[in-house]
Amino acid sequence: MKHFEQLQFSDLKSSDIVIICDRDGTIIEEKEYLSNPDDIVFLPGALEGLKLMNHLGHKVVIVSNQSGVGRGYFSFERMNEVNGRILKLLEAEGVEISGVYCCVHHPDDNCDCRKPKAGLVLMAAEEIGFDPENTIVIGDKTSDIDLAQTLNSFPILLRTGYGKDTEKLLNGFKGKIVKDLLEASEYISKSICARREVKLTGKR
Ligand SMILES: [Mg+2]
Ligand SMILES: [Zn+2]
Repeated sequence: MKHFEQLQFSDLKSSDIVIICDRDGTIIEEKEYLSNPDDIVFLPGALEGLKLMNHLGHKVVIVSNQSGVGRGYFSFERMNEVNGRILKLLEAEGVEISGVYCCVHHPDDNCDCRKPKAGLVLMAAEEIGFDPENTIVIGDKTSDIDLAQTLNSFPILLRTGYGKDTEKLLNGFKGKIVKDLLEASEYISKSICARREVKLTGKR
């Protein structure tokens, strides 16, 4: 896992840095195997944060473990309905999402796509066209943090969802911990702008 300063972000356009964003507990309230589109509730700061990321020029890709399908709690179609509703609501707010990638396997399936494994991000990188290393992974669980480590990218842990519990489990964490998606987007904005400044003026 890189420290933010180690990332060569100053050489990249913001459009080259893709945000890999978790869904449950990060964008919407964590409801334990949510399967009813009517139960979607956006977390405070989520819409504003995603909007700012878009505004800064970042693509946002949602990557989510939905083992409720593999466990037989709800169908693949039902999961698609929920994702469809989220996208529709986000679109109505002017938020652009470049893709939604979900692992639907049971944890025992030992698939290649359940976070913290990188399968979904590699697929997204191939389809959308970005370097998996030039990403920022945002989420509320250790699987999100570990995904960033696997990708050699940068993690941001939110204190939403399971985030506060996750924070207690972390040891020597080199990523960033923030309150919510809005604070995450402000951090990204400040850090990348600051690095641009350093490059322009040659100062450190
Ligand atoms: Mg989550
Ligand atoms: Zn999977």
